[in-house]
Amino acid sequence: SLSFPEPKKAQIKVLVRIRPAQNKLKPCSLTCFSGEIQTNPTVEKLKNQRKTFSFEKVFGQNASTNEVFQEIMPSIEKVSLGGRTCILAYGQTGSGKTHTMSGLIAESLSHLSKLLKCEETKVSIQCIEIYNEQIKNLLRQEPNIKNWMENVNIADMKFEGNWVPEVIRTVNEAFSKRITKSTQSNENSSRSHMVFTLIISFRNYEGTIQFVDLAGSERLNKSQTKGDTLKETVQINKSLSALVDVIGALESKQSHIPYRNSMLTKVLKPTLGETETDVNAIMNCSPEIENYNEAICTLELGSRLKSV
Ligand code: ADP
Ligand code: MG
Repeated sequence: SLSFPEPKKAQIKVLVRIRPAQNKLKPCSLTCFSGEIQTNPTVEKLKNQRKTFSFEKVFGQNASTNEVFQEIMPSIEKVSLGGRTCILAYGQTGSGKTHTMSGLIAESLSHLSKLLKCEETKVSIQCIEIYNEQIKNLLRQEPNIKNWMENVNIADMKFEGNWVPEVIRTVNEAFSKRITKSTQSNENSSRSHMVFTLIISFRNYEGTIQFVDLAGSERLNKSQTKGDTLKETVQINKSLSALVDVIGALESKQSHIPYRNSMLTKVLKPTLGETETDVNAIMNCSPEIENYNEAICTLELGSRLKSV
């Protein structure tokens, strides 16, 4: 009898990373073991609200970016054979998203270049920022490109030969062009999403990676939610929930993936619009007691993502 291979489905991996505490002398609100994270029972305020979460892997304050990279490495290796992966950093402003993402980009590119012969590889990249549902290209001089929507899936720059240092330099430059804005709680709050897409062609394969440094997930106080800040917050919440819906659809193996509901998910179509993809979500947390509520929100969302 004939046997058909199972269609390949999305794989979702949820990782947690706690950044180092700003003040080493103060007790931290979170304690972690290999795959478990708990609220710290020695912190007086948390004694009666002990919470435990479990994930594939939890990286504590002393973990290096290379250790985090080891967890996403299988997905990067699939990309060298024509696979797709989306690597996301989620968390409140200041929790280490950009630090983690820029480290993972460098590790991923150098690993890919070791797997593939540079001289036979072609790389195309796209680097964009999404702010209030508007796309801004971070690679070219002109602030907005006409008909960008029609071109959203087309990579913007092409590299050949020894491409790794040049791509890393270009992406770092793009990162520095992001909109940052002062809010009461944070001096340099990131209120935009950044998406770096890399399409790598090698022999007959074409693999795609999207690195996503999401806007800060923090909820603002009532007094702050006015005017532009309110609009930003509404758009951020809308796009983050569209993202959660897309990951949920991938995880529950639905044939319809609702990627059209926000600009963020539209832009992520090359990796999240397909049923055959790897999703690596890194939930970033700040360990200080004053960030406790935001850290719990991040961990709760992480739990939802791994068990939709
Ligand atoms: P976010 O992008 O989430 O707002 P950042 O990545 O900018 O946060 O991190 C906030 C600060 O903490 C930065 O100064 C960054 O260098 C530092 N930081 C974050 N994660 C780590 C880490 N794992 N090790 C050392 N410093 C870190
Ligand atoms: Mg940032």
